[in-house]
Amino acid sequence: MTSSLLPVYARAPLTFEKGEGAWLVATDGRRYLDFGSGIAVNALGHAHPQLMAALHDQAAKVWHISNLYQNPVAEALAKKLTDATFADLVFFTNSGAEALEASIKMARKYQAVNGRPERNRIVTFEGAFHGRTLATIAAGGQRKYMEGFGPDMPGFDQVPFGDEAALKAAIGPETAAILLEPVQGEGGIRPVPPETLRRIRQLCDENGLLLILDEVQTGVGRTGKLFAHEWAGIQPDIMAIAKGIGGGFPLGACLATAEAGKGMVPGTHGSTFGGNPLAAAVGNAVMDVVTGEGFLERIQQVALLLKQRLAEIKDRHPAVIAELRGEGLMVGLKLHAPNGELVRAAQEEGLLLIAAGDNVVRLLPPLVITDEDVAEAVGRLDRACATMEAGMKPAMRGAA
Ligand SMILES: *Cc1c(COP(=O)(O)O)cnc(C)c1O
Repeated sequence: MTSSLLPVYARAPLTFEKGEGAWLVATDGRRYLDFGSGIAVNALGHAHPQLMAALHDQAAKVWHISNLYQNPVAEALAKKLTDATFADLVFFTNSGAEALEASIKMARKYQAVNGRPERNRIVTFEGAFHGRTLATIAAGGQRKYMEGFGPDMPGFDQVPFGDEAALKAAIGPETAAILLEPVQGEGGIRPVPPETLRRIRQLCDENGLLLILDEVQTGVGRTGKLFAHEWAGIQPDIMAIAKGIGGGFPLGACLATAEAGKGMVPGTHGSTFGGNPLAAAVGNAVMDVVTGEGFLERIQQVALLLKQRLAEIKDRHPAVIAELRGEGLMVGLKLHAPNGELVRAAQEEGLLLIAAGDNVVRLLPPLVITDEDVAEAVGRLDRACATMEAGMKPAMRGAA
């Protein structure tokens, strides 16, 4: 079958026609346990009644008004986000990359209005992923995403992940900000230790730099806190979010303190769709659920259960799984065997997982999973690992 879609994705031969909670149903009727959530997007699973109601209600009122007029639905969501976080101000986008673009522009503008326009460089970390626009591929610094796309966007200095000496050395008179993910997602579920995050915050304060956190994947309850930086007890100046905040509707945001955002006056930035009433209505419903009584505690509880059960699977399959890592419901299995093979073997068992860098397989289940979903997923993962072992050469099986 030929496709008219630009072939930039290596799609699995699976077609889903509906979803319910943590489950997806394929066109052949087969049911799959969705432990990828469309890459941490379907935070409340599929067909959540509150999200469906919010979208239907708003769809009957008004879909789009542009940013030429007042937008009470976006106002309400911005208020919820600022009430729940360090931030005073919110700019809405349609994606994570756009939220990062806004963050990068804001950091540079902040330094410029402070009379330091030469401070326009941003320090980032190897293994980072910040999106696919020209600025965000330069920020991420991965050659495979930059090759052939013309001159690299200037203004980014990259240091090895976890190398604090290199980080200090990279800070110069032209540095505006430090940008990082509290847990690298695409890079292979690599958490930044809380004490490192605290030292990075301190470095920013000592050098007049802004701290930009990319919580596009880690945010909105994914790690068991509303935002991952809360585990370290620090606050950023600017934060990019997306993925989970829309629960499946395209929505992102750049959150900032009033100080960091002070250069962003009328005319400095904009978006036609950003904060669109349909997206904002769903975002409001997501925030209501995630900040509801006991919701985050429940994530921490089920995440602990998942971690314990995965530790057992790792012990049962040492030739396949090398290491278990992550925070909350953002879990990585670092493998000995190729990660793509485990993703395929799990798929055969009706379990959806996602590959990441560093030969890691990611588990990013909906935040609403039950203990039964965990048991079911672990059983299926166990069988997938056994299948992989059965296909290995005898010498490999004992390798670990
Ligand atoms: C997915 C992701 C992005 C990019 O988001 P898009 O919506 O694809 O533009 C940026 N940063 C992180 C950490 C992500 O996981």
